[in-house]
Amino acid sequence: MELLQRLRPPAGRPPAEIAQALRLVQRPRTACAQTGGIRRTVYLRDVADPDHDQAYGTASPDAPVTRADFERALRALHASDLRTHDQLLHLAAQVVALTDELTRRLDGVEPKPAPPETPAEPTALTVETTVAMMTDDTLSRIRANDANQDNGVSFEMGGDKYTVQSESPPCEELIHLCKARCCTLRFALSTQDLDEGIIRWDYGRPYMIRQRASDEYCVHNDPETHHCTVHAARPRVCRTYHCRDDKRIWLDYEQRIPGPDPDYKPAPFTFNLMDRARARTVALFNEHDALEKAYPDRDPRKGPKL
Ligand code: SF4
Ligand code: SF4
Repeated sequence: MELLQRLRPPAGRPPAEIAQALRLVQRPRTACAQTGGIRRTVYLRDVADPDHDQAYGTASPDAPVTRADFERALRALHASDLRTHDQLLHLAAQVVALTDELTRRLDGVEPKPAPPETPAEPTALTVETTVAMMTDDTLSRIRANDANQDNGVSFEMGGDKYTVQSESPPCEELIHLCKARCCTLRFALSTQDLDEGIIRWDYGRPYMIRQRASDEYCVHNDPETHHCTVHAARPRVCRTYHCRDDKRIWLDYEQRIPGPDPDYKPAPFTFNLMDRARARTVALFNEHDALEKAYPDRDPRKGPKL
């Protein structure tokens, strides 16, 4: 209130010394043209303030938004979206648990997937207590089902890419045949990759590796030599992948006959949905944790020098 009192111009014409001490900082005339010539007040500032050109801390008010800042903002939005999604799953679990319990109490039968007309077990617990007890189990099942859905944001959920041990194919020897076709495959990046800010991701399909429209190669793949230009910082997927049995790459790896096999059909995924749901929860936790810590201006790139 007191601040408002101080900022509000006095009624009638302001005394000359107040009008001189305060100035309404306004948009340039070119911008005013878009608003029908009406000048819009942006800030009310004391012109005597020596810091009046540093409205945003130490940065110039017109400093461009960096890629690190922009990506941090996108990640915060995605994380918020995923958190809301998870809260909805929790709410759904409560609704399912409540519906199941009401089916037992009011209809006297066990809810699906029990066979029809299965008599409900008698209980001395209240509805509230039973629902609270059932919610966690129901939530696990709902999360497992959800893990099979594409929710628009994908993470690579492995561990530290710099400690991973894996057998690699002799890429230098084979690249003239395979043309590094592995670098046209799509995969998700990890929170570690995002924090480093070296590997580019597709802003329209977070957090998949970014690919060139012209040839569908990863943007880090040199179009002439097909070598990786970010080898020291390449994602975990690139470190652990072996193309030996990939029919998208080789018709016959042992005979060195490059593919792809025109009859190839990808095998269905056989992952455990509960494990995947747990990994997703951990990935989301890591992402929140990373966003808490990774201030781009204080903590720039953490990855290796390229
Ligand atoms: S396709 Fe296989 S051999 Fe060729 S670069 Fe990729 S991993 Fe190496
Ligand atoms: S990061 Fe490097 S190795 Fe991985 S897909 Fe891109 S170019 Fe290939």
